[in-house]
Amino acid sequence: MTRTLRLAVPNKGRLESDTATLLRDAGLVFEKTERALSVSVHNVDLELLFVRADDIPEMLADGVAELGVTGQDLLAEHGNGLSVLAELGYGRCRLVAAVPRATEASKIEDFAGFRIATSHPNITGRFFAERDINVTVVPLKGSVEVAPKLDVADAVVDLVSTGSTLLVNGLIQVGTILESQAVLVANPDAITLRSAEVDQVATALTAVVAGRGKRYLLLNAPQEAVEKMADIIPGMESPTVVPLAEAGWVAVHSVVDADDVWNVLPDLKALGGRDILVLRIQQLIA
Ligand code: AMP
Repeated sequence: MTRTLRLAVPNKGRLESDTATLLRDAGLVFEKTERALSVSVHNVDLELLFVRADDIPEMLADGVAELGVTGQDLLAEHGNGLSVLAELGYGRCRLVAAVPRATEASKIEDFAGFRIATSHPNITGRFFAERDINVTVVPLKGSVEVAPKLDVADAVVDLVSTGSTLLVNGLIQVGTILESQAVLVANPDAITLRSAEVDQVATALTAVVAGRGKRYLLLNAPQEAVEKMADIIPGMESPTVVPLAEAGWVAVHSVVDADDVWNVLPDLKALGGRDILVLRIQQLIA
């Protein structure tokens, strides 16, 4: 008998809470307890494995789980032969090379001969080797940013989102090695052998991510404004236009990019639009 499909998700750390929110927004009902490693989803035939984000690539490669949510950086560091099914739009960060303020290094090439502390030794080693820059990689599990102060390294390769931790530790960014966000990843065998189930999970999660980037707009408008409004809010195919009981008036419905709402509202008002509603979209499957 085929076992229930397993989705490995971070049990703590920066990706934990946004991942749980994504799963719940996709309609999965589950309870997470502090102790349980494995939890059955109540309303869907799916098992969640709560594990460390950086163990997830290896668990997928070993076939312990078919699907996983982890960071692109961790995939590049530990993953081999895994497929990214979707970018999830959170956990955004950059892996950057940085040096102490006093060090004279303005570009990556200036790192030649440096000892570089990092918790991403594989990515870092590959990056400098590809550019023929001779460096010594010093692998550390954490607190990479203090390594230069302790004279364990001359430079660091570390994850940043705002960069404030580096600044606080007197480090200046010199270059970006990798951009990262959370991704849905699959074991390649699962993609071929269990494609329908894998697709179902990927579709549900991708639909949430797509919905977050859009808004559903409804407004009442004079019939004669419809053509111009359709140019402003063309929607997925074209706006839905429904007659109102009051002659000469219609309701216009459309989907717009969340980032565009701010800009289109004044134009719609100027064309006579009123009673405008802007709604969030739970899931969107184009
Ligand atoms: P954890 O070590 O469990 O907190 O997870 C770290 C993962 O969260 C990283 O591998 C990245 O994919 C992601 N992440 C997002 N923003 C940051 C950040 N500012 N610093 C470190 N990791 C981040």
